Amino acid sequence: MTDTPRHQGLRNKLVAELKNKGITDPKVLSAIASVPRHLLLESAFEPHAYQDKAFPIAAGQTISQPYTVAFQTDLLAVKKGDKILEIGTGSGYQAAILYHLGAKVYTIERIKELYLKAKKNLEKINVRLKYMGYGDGYKGLPLYAPFDKIIVTAAAPYVPESLIDQLNPGGRMVIPVGQGSQEMKLIEKTSSGEIIETTHGMFKFVPMLKNKA
Ligand code: SAH
Repeated sequence: MTDTPRHQGLRNKLVAELKNKGITDPKVLSAIASVPRHLLLESAFEPHAYQDKAFPIAAGQTISQPYTVAFQTDLLAVKKGDKILEIGTGSGYQAAILYHLGAKVYTIERIKELYLKAKKNLEKINVRLKYMGYGDGYKGLPLYAPFDKIIVTAAAPYVPESLIDQLNPGGRMVIPVGQGSQEMKLIEKTSSGEIIETTHGMFKFVPMLKNKA
């Protein structure tokens, strides 16, 4: 599979759809217009790659809906050069969007098969992350901490303390919390280290898997 003008046309349509749904940041929209989502999906889903829907990837996991990716990215308020930790690499789509926004991206995935697949697919589309690892999101990435931003892309039962610890003062974390459906939480750490939490609507994610043995 390759990227073609037809795929670009479908991406432009998707961007228009996301605009209608309330995504306004031109940088986020331009990242959506740039990342070849169809090259991160199984070929059977290629015809649907630019619908605003979540799709199965492998191991019972999903690639997030473009609207959700755009919404979380918007809330994260990504600036060029931000050092960002993503929990739940999945297909690599969200990581590719952050890369296109000029972020230094660190991402971890709990399922080895997906980690390997995302590594291969992101190389194929020339997305260069700072770090991709097979690891446990509950622990974060202490070796590379602190981060300016943290984004969790699986449903967390609670906000892991280790992730709050790994956030820089002035940093932001976006994390869906809850069982069944999730509240999108924005956690801001002020320059004095105070934690401010706000909620931003309901979403549905696959559950964050328990700690690795
Ligand atoms: N960001 C992804 C969305 C993938 S769905 C994308 O753009 O495609 C959520 C992902 O989180 C799944 O791949 C799942 O395996 C992973 N995950 C679940 N629990 C995790 C954990 N404890 N640590 C790291 N990743 C986890």
